[in-house]
Amino acid sequence: MRRYRAAAGTPAIVLSFLFSACAGDNTPPAATAPGILIEGALVLDGTGAEGVVVDVRVEGDRIQAVGDLSASDGDVVIDATGLALAPGFIDTHSHHDGGLLDTRDALAALSQGITTIVVGQDGSSRFPLNEFFQQLEATPPTVNVASYVGHGAVRRDVLGDDYRRAATESEVQAMQEVLRGELSAGALGLSTGLEYDVGLNSTTEEVVALAREAAAVGGRYISHMRSEDRHLMESIEEIIRIGREADIPVQISHMKLAMKSLWGRSPEILARLDRAREEGVDITADVYPYEFWQSTMTVLFPERDFDNRETVQFVLDELAPPEGMLIARYEAEPSYVGLSLEAIAELRGEDPATTYMALIAESQALAEQTGRGTESIIARSMHPDDIATLLSWPHTNVSSDGSLAGRHPRGFGSFTRVLREHVRETEVLSLPEAIRKMTGASAAHVGILERGTITPGAYADLVLFDPETVADRATPDAANEPSVGIDRVLVNGIIVYANGRVTDARPGLVIRRVDR
Ligand SMILES: [Zn+2]
Repeated sequence: MRRYRAAAGTPAIVLSFLFSACAGDNTPPAATAPGILIEGALVLDGTGAEGVVVDVRVEGDRIQAVGDLSASDGDVVIDATGLALAPGFIDTHSHHDGGLLDTRDALAALSQGITTIVVGQDGSSRFPLNEFFQQLEATPPTVNVASYVGHGAVRRDVLGDDYRRAATESEVQAMQEVLRGELSAGALGLSTGLEYDVGLNSTTEEVVALAREAAAVGGRYISHMRSEDRHLMESIEEIIRIGREADIPVQISHMKLAMKSLWGRSPEILARLDRAREEGVDITADVYPYEFWQSTMTVLFPERDFDNRETVQFVLDELAPPEGMLIARYEAEPSYVGLSLEAIAELRGEDPATTYMALIAESQALAEQTGRGTESIIARSMHPDDIATLLSWPHTNVSSDGSLAGRHPRGFGSFTRVLREHVRETEVLSLPEAIRKMTGASAAHVGILERGTITPGAYADLVLFDPETVADRATPDAANEPSVGIDRVLVNGIIVYANGRVTDARPGLVIRRVDR
């Protein structure tokens, strides 16, 4: 088997920690009950340290020992020679909770090695969170679930439908009160979706006032920023300011440069983030490895001027070219699903801008009748070089932004895609560094404790995979195709995925923030 190097710059202290943890100079605690012994895997411990071939023993829901081990009576022994063993992947920006109470196998997550999903993203969360957590505990899924509290959920609770404006001081105080309740239910912190309707009209001051509440209990801030295109640079300044003024760790969700004229500027943006870190702002980011995103037809119009032909043309020229804009859902005319805007324009005998304006108007009319969103698109707007550069920044972790049965392949293939493309094919990341960005760094970025590393005493969330074959199979045409090369997945010490199938076990736990 090919050996993988540790990431450049892995601190010596981490390597020596791994060595002492694995070399057995402290005798491992004695087994007290039958467990699972995983023998002979290349163990990547999630810290970025070089892989080491050692045994890992699981007892109950925890990792009991790491080292040169022998089986105890009744142990299930897994011969993992030739495979790699990593901590279960932590998806710090997930929408896999949609339908999870009915689809508890969470195949989309497990098939790419995800054992913990972090939901409540983009300013949108289950409300009240406590109820959702109780439902999950009554009917657990295969994966662990943690959640942020969404700014939008809190804003809606206080402002009702009258949210297209700045909040007054007393309304902000009312939001702080609601937020405190959700934080005490165990939310990891505050999430915002400042590009979306409910968050759009909030001021930075409002967000800072709310972020301070999260900071007061040791929570964090995570954000789909106000703009990922026209106003990306100002949006980055805004999140840095929120981190500084609220004195809270901040994370940029699904970081991207989604405008042609921004392509190639990722080094400059990362330099700005590094400067902010040097100034004391704990800023991090997550990235998913696709050039295309999924959202609504209207998200690219911060002024909501969908009938302004000039703006529409700018969107198609700079942000989402018609040939790269695929209709994922369109209830007003379901036959358009799967077609590009360019193809639909041709069908209708129109130019793409005219068609785009018409499709938005038709879907909005329907949304008015039904009272809910009726469309979504997949649009190609990133450059692969920027994705690679963002992924390489030491302070980014991998996320999926995916769903259980969405039209975007990220729901089934994000983590395995990074292992195939960025580790094996282009070698942008070493294997230990990629694993760190899926586990140890991810846990640190969202404040999850006792998961994300292979260390005695930690929860036994584990992924056994073949580094030579692991790959995504999902594409926009077959978005729900499971990944390959993931051999087994354990959640809280229980095997939930083996031989390409989900087992009957449903050991997922709710992960609540522990108050500072
Ligand atoms: Zn988002």
